[in-house]
Amino acid sequence: MEIVKSICPFCGVGCGVELYVDSSIVRLSPSKEHILSKGHLCGKGTLSFEPVYSWDRVTYPLKKIKGEHIRISWEEAINDIVNKIKEIIQYGKDSIAFYGGCQNTLEENYLMQKLARAIGTNNVDSCARVCHEPSAMALKEMVGIGASSISAEMIPKMKVVVITGESVTESHPVLSQYLTEAKIKGTKIVVIDPRINGTSKFADVHLRPKPGTDIALFNAVGNYLIENSLIDEKFIKERTVGFNEYAKGVSKYTLDYAEKITGILKEDIENFAKLISQKGVIFAWGLGLTQSSGVDGVRSYIDLALLTGNIGKYGGLLVFRGQTNVQGAGDIVKPNVFPNGAMNEENAQKLLKIWKFKPPTNPGLSVTNALLRDNKIRAIIFMGYNPLISMPNREKVERKLRSLDLLVVIDPFMTETAKIADYVLPAALWVEKEGSVANLDRLVKWRFKAIDPPGEAKPDYEILKELAEGFGYSFNSDPKEVFEEMKKVSPTYSNLSLDEIMDYSSNSRYPNHEVSLYEEKFNTEDGKARFIFREQHEVKNGMILITVRNVTRYNTDVVTGRIPGFGEYSTPIYISSDDATELKIRDSEEVSVISNCGKMNFKVKISNEVPKGVAMMYMHDPKVNYVVC
Ligand code: SF4
Repeated sequence: MEIVKSICPFCGVGCGVELYVDSSIVRLSPSKEHILSKGHLCGKGTLSFEPVYSWDRVTYPLKKIKGEHIRISWEEAINDIVNKIKEIIQYGKDSIAFYGGCQNTLEENYLMQKLARAIGTNNVDSCARVCHEPSAMALKEMVGIGASSISAEMIPKMKVVVITGESVTESHPVLSQYLTEAKIKGTKIVVIDPRINGTSKFADVHLRPKPGTDIALFNAVGNYLIENSLIDEKFIKERTVGFNEYAKGVSKYTLDYAEKITGILKEDIENFAKLISQKGVIFAWGLGLTQSSGVDGVRSYIDLALLTGNIGKYGGLLVFRGQTNVQGAGDIVKPNVFPNGAMNEENAQKLLKIWKFKPPTNPGLSVTNALLRDNKIRAIIFMGYNPLISMPNREKVERKLRSLDLLVVIDPFMTETAKIADYVLPAALWVEKEGSVANLDRLVKWRFKAIDPPGEAKPDYEILKELAEGFGYSFNSDPKEVFEEMKKVSPTYSNLSLDEIMDYSSNSRYPNHEVSLYEEKFNTEDGKARFIFREQHEVKNGMILITVRNVTRYNTDVVTGRIPGFGEYSTPIYISSDDATELKIRDSEEVSVISNCGKMNFKVKISNEVPKGVAMMYMHDPKVNYVVC
């Protein structure tokens, strides 16, 4: 039996797996040599190969004719799509857009944005836009690289680990091993999250701010640290800029004010501030921060690491990214940045030398702007992306998708987005192709091919190559050669070799194999980090809905829902007993949930996990985004 190495297709930990192949995959085991997962897998990772054999894979190209998807040949599909795009281009090259998913490999994302730019548009993006693009933006502008500064491996070496808007036990289960080890060694674990979750249950401190009030909390902590001389003055003087403006900005954020806004007792805020004033603190965060407080929330959080000198030698910033290659997709595919850096003439000329065509230099539209704002886009090609279910404001997204002149979906399954597409192109799943992925702490690893795709399904890189040929471009689609080309283009990946990313025991972290970045200097032009002060955003009245992850499910549940025995997922809406009493709602009763953008019925679950004023649902239910705005 052949053993083929690969990387779990789900969360951003990117655990190493071994596939046992005897013409088909018979079982999957954890890879003991993998430098981060160290022989561990969570439940859904263990079963991740099962959906490969699902009976309802898309196995040949489909075209929608009179409302029905009809089988066509690859030749007809590629010719039709290319001709249709050529027709639509008369409305301007920016009427076309390509948006990719974060399960696709670096090479596939690289080829997708290259094809869009060959056609003449920068309308490219990935689903990283709605999860950690705020993290990437804040990190890039404040410390220089839009990625975690420290590896999760360092957690047990810290005095304090602060986890904001994330439950490791549910969302990134394999990293729990590091929290357990840390706890045994005496590291203090702080969880900042409005709900009680698996991680908060074993944390030393649990702060429960009202959703969306993180900035007030962080600013008040910053102000307290400054007023009580608990800051690292030497670090601030030698390694940062913008401290005076920051200090002035946070000066009005008193503990009393923060208590009023966040609902956290001022004594608890004070104790938290004292805890993080030590050396050896990791500031980690997940979607709970980015989706509640956006890029300003992340900026205010990073400010605390700068104030206390906990980035570089002593601590760091760790982003709990949600998908296997969300870091890589976000690095390579952006509508306003080239894969080789800023979108300007100089970088366009450098790309011309490698690509043999010059990309346009006007910024394109992000996927959120394309689907949720007025624009002139008439054709969208989605690769491994199911926005009809994953984007907020579902009704608006559906209206836009249905209004397009051309909607193409490249996917292994008939997703909800594929169901309304004009063309569906059958894609290979992760075990049926090869390529690299970048995980949540900058670790890049190669996935090896274990089996052939079913029917006429093809790897996305083959499909992109055929589309490019339709436009007269010859793209090399061999993943290893694409990786080498990407290295020439992207300085981020240029110091990694294929050999090391194929070795699961190697520290193949970009840019230069650092477990911890910025020990000497930051990656900004002057080598210094930037403080950025931001005011607390307006906090809306009424009940606030938050969405979270279930440990057994993954994103829109297209893949995990096909693990035998898992079945369709539906979530109740969790509310506190105080709210239930006030609203006269009984447990298990069906209620109408009305939000600023939609309405849907859900069953109620009364739970002490959520505080008064907060409602919670799991994100995997396809109905959730009818009411998430
Ligand atoms: Fe897969 Fe994440 Fe589970 Fe690891 S922790 S096995 S990457 S889902």
